[in-house]
Amino acid sequence: MRTRLKRPEQIDKMREAGQIVADTLRLMRASVEPGITTRQLDQIAEENIRRHGATPSYKGYRGFPASICASVNTVIVHGIPNDTPLEEGDIISVDVGAKYRGFHGDATISLGVGAVPDESQRLMDVCRAALYAGIEKTRAGNRLTDISATIQHCVESAGFSVVRDLYGHGIGSNLHEEPLLPHYGDPGQGPRLRAGMVLTIEPMIAAGDPAWETLSDNWTVVTLDGSLSAQFEHTVAITDNGPEILTDLGD
Ligand code: MG
Repeated sequence: MRTRLKRPEQIDKMREAGQIVADTLRLMRASVEPGITTRQLDQIAEENIRRHGATPSYKGYRGFPASICASVNTVIVHGIPNDTPLEEGDIISVDVGAKYRGFHGDATISLGVGAVPDESQRLMDVCRAALYAGIEKTRAGNRLTDISATIQHCVESAGFSVVRDLYGHGIGSNLHEEPLLPHYGDPGQGPRLRAGMVLTIEPMIAAGDPAWETLSDNWTVVTLDGSLSAQFEHTVAITDNGPEILTDLGD
């Protein structure tokens, strides 16, 4: 499948979807605290998405049972919300997708639950900084893996590792479109970036070894060595004026 370029009016619609996602993530940030369960977070998120007239992109996607992915501590991605209360010192990645007027928005933030150890906070800070460094490279004329190489450099120079084989991707009227974006690798490879491309950039990083496995629920992806993982994600449009973060939380 070829990369589908979006026209400016389509990017306008994607910004609306993206802002519903951003609003929902702000709500997640305000709601995460010791004692709350990820199932409660999922209900809060789904209500907020539907209140805006949107639908949760993940609910029912390939049978996924919830509106958010809630990935706690050693879970890298695709954690299924459950009834276990979050504990002080946990870290959680909340991934939200919303479809509005035919287009998807998709973003993830990692959050500390109450006070977290310094090294946990640094893991999240480095992941967020790597995402933003990658976004800086998301410009017409660059190659796709210029984003990848920048993210890898950011993460590894801080002493952490980038998870392999799980990718960012094109996004639009489909949740997943071409091209696939690795968050590691040499620069200067892959398609040349063009205005009208819209991508998710979503580095997943680990404090230890990045090797992972999928649990028997067929969704939950965890680090093999039990080390902590963080993820940040934005939906980013390439415009003639540079990258635009469609899911910008405004801070
Ligand atoms: Mg996502």
